[in-house]
Amino acid sequence: MSPAESLDLAEFHGDGISAELSAAVHSLAERLPMEVRFHEVDLSLERRQSDAEGSYRDAEKAIRKYGVAIKYPTTTDIESPNKVLRDRFDFSVIHRPVRSIPGVKTRYNGQVDLNIVRIAVGGTYEDAGRRIGSEAAVSVRVIERRPSFQAAKFAFELAQKLECGVCSASKYTIQRATDGLFEEVVTEVAATYPDVHHHAELFDALLAKLIMKSEDYNVVVTPNEYGDFLSDTACGMIGSIGLGASASYSFDDNGNVVLAMFDPAGGTAPDIAGQGLCNPSAAIWAFGQLLEHQGFRALGGALNDAVRDAISAGNTTGDLGGSLSTMEFTEAVWEATAARLIGGVKA
Ligand code: ATP
Repeated sequence: MSPAESLDLAEFHGDGISAELSAAVHSLAERLPMEVRFHEVDLSLERRQSDAEGSYRDAEKAIRKYGVAIKYPTTTDIESPNKVLRDRFDFSVIHRPVRSIPGVKTRYNGQVDLNIVRIAVGGTYEDAGRRIGSEAAVSVRVIERRPSFQAAKFAFELAQKLECGVCSASKYTIQRATDGLFEEVVTEVAATYPDVHHHAELFDALLAKLIMKSEDYNVVVTPNEYGDFLSDTACGMIGSIGLGASASYSFDDNGNVVLAMFDPAGGTAPDIAGQGLCNPSAAIWAFGQLLEHQGFRALGGALNDAVRDAISAGNTTGDLGGSLSTMEFTEAVWEATAARLIGGVKA
C-alpha cells in the first residue's frame, strides 16, 4: 500500500526493556498505511554517563525539529532524565488517559474512562520545605496563572473533541488564594468554550464520587499534586499502575502546544529486560496517543483499541497471566489493528 501520509518523530531510547518496547512500536508502525520516520536519540545510561549534555542536546534538537517524541523508560542514576527533559522542554501539562481494560482483573467493578489533565509544575512539588527547629516544618505551595491557563485550555480542547464536559478539582474552599487562582483561571477559560460544560469539585469529594459513579467523569483538570494522586487512584481502579501512557506538553503564549512527548508509565524492568517477556501495551498506547495528537486520530484510536482487544481476548504477556512473548503479543495487536482499520488514515 502506498503511504497516504507521513510522520516524522523523535524517538528517545532508554534502558532495560526500552529496546524491546521500541521494537514492538516499530513493527506496528511499519505496517500502518502511512510512513512513520523515527529519528532516534540514545538516552541510555551508558550514553548519559559518557556524555550527558550531548545526549540531552541531541534529544532537544530532535524534539524541537519534529515537535513530538516517544520516550521509553530510562534509569535514574545521578539525575532523573524525566526531570531534565521536563525542565529543558518546559513541559507544563501532563495528560494521562486511564481507561478500564476488559480482561484485566480489578477489585473495582465500575468502568473508568478518565482523562486526567494535570499541571506538571508547581503545587507542593517545587519546594522540599525546611525545618523550623525540631518541632515544625514549612513549605511553599505555588500556583501560577500561565500553567493553569495552559492546562485548562488543553482540557477544554480535549473535551470539545471528546464531546464531554470538564471537571476542575482542587481545594478552593480552603486553599483560597492558590486553588482559588487555579479555579479562577479555569472559569475564565471555560467562558471561551460555551459549548463545553464545566463544573468545579472539591478534590476529596471528587475521589469519593469517582469511585461511586466513575461514568460521570471524563476530563478532569487539576493542580500538580492532586493530578498525581488522582492518576494513581484511577490506575488502581483499573487494576494496574504500569499499564498506561502519558503525554507531556509545552505551550506558546497563546496556549497552543509547541512540543509533545509520549511515554509509557512503567519503568525499565531490569529483571526481565532482554528476554522478550515485557508487556509493550503502554508503549503502544504512547505511540497511539502520539498519532492521535498529530492528527492521525483514526489510526491512533485503532491502535489504542487494538491493544485492549488483544488483552480482552486473553492474548496477554506473563505480567497479565498469559504466556505470549513481547512480539507474539505485538502480532495479536497488529491483527486487532488490521481488523479495525477501515477508511482513511487521517480522520
Ligand atoms: P525502574 O527503576 O526503572 O523504575 P523497577 O524495576 O524498579 O525499574 P519497574 O520497571 O516499574 O520498576 O518494574 C516493577 C516490576 O514490574 C518489575 O518486576 C518488572 O519486571 C515489572 N514490569 C515493569 N514494566 C513491565 C512491562 N512492561 N512488562 C512486564 N513487566 C513489567
